Amino acid sequence: MTTLNNISSCVAQYDPRALPVTAAQAIVRQWATPVTAIERVPLHDALDRVLAEDIVSPSDVPAHDNSAMDGYAFHSAALANPSATVELAVAGRALAGHPFGGAVAVTQCVRVMTGASMPAGCDTVVLQERVTRTGDTIQFAASTVIAGANRRLAGEDLVRGSAALRAGRTLRASDLGLIASLGIAEVPVRRRLRVAFFSTGDELRSLGEPLEPGCVYDSNRHTLFAMLRRMNIDALDLGVVRDQPAALEAALRSAAASADVVLTSGGVSVGEADFTQQLLQTFGDVAFWSLAMRPGRPLAFGRVWSGDRPGLGRPALFFGLPGNPVAVMVTFYQIVREALLVMSGATRQPVALLRAASREMIRKRAGRTEYQRGVAERDARGQWHVTPTGSQSSGVLSSMSEANCFIVLEHERADVAPGEDVDIMLFDGLI
Ligand code: AMP
Ligand code: MG
Repeated sequence: MTTLNNISSCVAQYDPRALPVTAAQAIVRQWATPVTAIERVPLHDALDRVLAEDIVSPSDVPAHDNSAMDGYAFHSAALANPSATVELAVAGRALAGHPFGGAVAVTQCVRVMTGASMPAGCDTVVLQERVTRTGDTIQFAASTVIAGANRRLAGEDLVRGSAALRAGRTLRASDLGLIASLGIAEVPVRRRLRVAFFSTGDELRSLGEPLEPGCVYDSNRHTLFAMLRRMNIDALDLGVVRDQPAALEAALRSAAASADVVLTSGGVSVGEADFTQQLLQTFGDVAFWSLAMRPGRPLAFGRVWSGDRPGLGRPALFFGLPGNPVAVMVTFYQIVREALLVMSGATRQPVALLRAASREMIRKRAGRTEYQRGVAERDARGQWHVTPTGSQSSGVLSSMSEANCFIVLEHERADVAPGEDVDIMLFDGLI
């Protein structure tokens, strides 16, 4: 069995006590294998699903040359003399869905509306505004139109036999339209990823329960649920588990039995980690990392099995996230998200970063990556600016709600002076 140790030791900079974010991301990526099962779903259910096979165009789209405008179709041979006035006899008409059946001579034209198939013998459309029509004759200056104008070619959108969309694509609105334009009603997609999650902590109370002194409501489960839903993942909420080895063991094993990935929050910081660490060694292959990252320093990562020993029963990828609510979100987006995308079968698409000038001085220590919460805005000249939200404490969840971006302060960077450029990762499109 390949163990986490074998893989981790191949990664440069592997130091479980101060693991750079990029190294952690690389290890996590290696352990994420895509689900293989494929389902065929009706087009309307395919939004945000991951395409399992290429969609190959069974025909040209559009299938015929057609008019891009309302006007008159004719053969460009009539434009031989560019300074002449062209006079053509109207032989008939063609509308979208109602083609003109006859042949058209060079001295003739056909009245066409947008989308109408180009009549045989015609290659150019003159706009209706450019012509003078008298009875069944039109006149226009040859200089007002060039040969081949206002005509959409067959196969201009999609050529028959070519891949219209590639496997691994997360389907968007335009893709659903594209698939429909090919006449395809059902789409092969990967099955949805199933992720089980629970919170740990004796102090946690669920909604509806009274809050005794020293207790807090469990917010992480609700954040995790929403983040998973946004990714169109099948999220299985296993509730709150007390800080007791037997309860934790039962919860982890049943989570592994029913899901591809198990996420927990809390219980991985120093001290607490001791008992979870021992426990996870008995039926898992899990490393306890201290990430060179803020927030989100402690993280447990590896595999757990539904049986009572590693390798027995069903395996699941395991992430033991920190307990602090902001740390949960940051580690989810920076470490877990990409693994979930890979497992869903989606092609990797790095999240776009923008450059913004910091409005304030930001304290930062070199040697760790920080994800501060910020409010970014664009000024009239198109320059982005960012202001950190007040408290950057990892327990202050309102800093996430207030922010519209992460300020990504890379590993080597130290303090940021006011006006200095920083990278920002906008929440829109991510969250
Ligand atoms: P831990 O990592 O378990 O030591 O938790 C760190 C901090 O996060 C403590 O203040 C916990 O009370 C808090 N915390 C842990 N889990 C949750 C949760 N599910 N919802 C809200 N706060 C939590
Ligand atoms: Mg705890």
